[in-house]
Amino acid sequence: MPTWPSTDETLRHVLDIVADGVWNWDVLTGHVSRSAGWYRMLGYDVDSLNQDVLTWENVIHPDDYPNVMAHFEDYVKDRIPAYRIQYRCLKADGTYLWIEDSGKIVERLPDNSPARMIGAHTNIDELRTTQEKLAQQSQLIVGDYADLEHLIKVRTEELAELNETLQEKVLEVEQLASRDMLTGIYNRRMFEQLIDIEIKRAKRYSQPMSVILADIDLFKQVNDIYGHSMGDKVLTSVAETLQEHIRESDILARWGGEEFAIILPNTEADTALEMAERLRHYIAEMRNENNIQVTCSFGVTEYNTEDSGDSIFSRMDQALYQAKDCNRNNVKLMPNH
Ligand code: GH3
Ligand code: MG
Ligand code: MG
Repeated sequence: MPTWPSTDETLRHVLDIVADGVWNWDVLTGHVSRSAGWYRMLGYDVDSLNQDVLTWENVIHPDDYPNVMAHFEDYVKDRIPAYRIQYRCLKADGTYLWIEDSGKIVERLPDNSPARMIGAHTNIDELRTTQEKLAQQSQLIVGDYADLEHLIKVRTEELAELNETLQEKVLEVEQLASRDMLTGIYNRRMFEQLIDIEIKRAKRYSQPMSVILADIDLFKQVNDIYGHSMGDKVLTSVAETLQEHIRESDILARWGGEEFAIILPNTEADTALEMAERLRHYIAEMRNENNIQVTCSFGVTEYNTEDSGDSIFSRMDQALYQAKDCNRNNVKLMPNH
């Protein structure tokens, strides 16, 4: 029959097996014995530290200390059922080791205060370090993700702004390319593009279409008498007056220096003639700030299915020439056949 060691010794062996370090606190004497494993775990020479409670308190990480003490106090005062807590302990090399400390009061005095308590320390450093690394990494991932989201948001906004600026610039360029600088109405380049579109439309829908060419009479004299900048103002006023009295679907452009061209979609020659006559009247009535009065001569022609832009322009020019030839300030029609 093998002989068993004493109960205390057996307990010590068992605890040595299940834990990394074992402690035994005799409350009455204040003596704390610690197993060799406890010393080895923390890198101290076995039994090299004072065998009292202070040794324990001294190895607890300052940041963990208040928690550990509060937890210990709670257990001793019977406010919680078990003493089990994780904290960092100072190792001989000055670094800290995460341990889990669990203990149990095994003897109490008659007033219920503890007389003896035993406990075990388990090295959980690898576990905690891994947990912390994981937590840090997930934090980093979350952080990175937030950074990325923010960056995407900022870049998207920048891009939207850039797009807007670009669109404005495109509009500006289009405006510059298609509009006359002085009067703001379409320029000749645009007019020539638009007449091609209108010719196609008239062809496709078998609709009539007419054009009017207006030229300010003796405009050179206006410049000579009132100066070039006043001449500019007159030009602008004429453009405004024409724009004001044509229909929404009609297209007005500055054809040249003091010449204006109008496309009248879906309009026969008679109606175009009436329109030109009205415009002639409005221009003659027009007075600008210096009370300058001008008149215009008008050439009108209607599109025919054989027409190109050039052939229409040529007829409207001839019509205008005739109007000029008839003492100006009048409207002439050049038939389309
Ligand atoms: P007509 O009745 O035969 O058309 O005589 P006109 O004097 O109007 O014709 P002409 O072609 O001899 O002169 C046109 C004038 O228009 C000459 C030119 O200085 C002036 N002109 C052309 N473009 C502009 C402009 O942008 N601003 C100003 N102020 N004058 C211009
Ligand atoms: Mg002219
Ligand atoms: Mg003129």
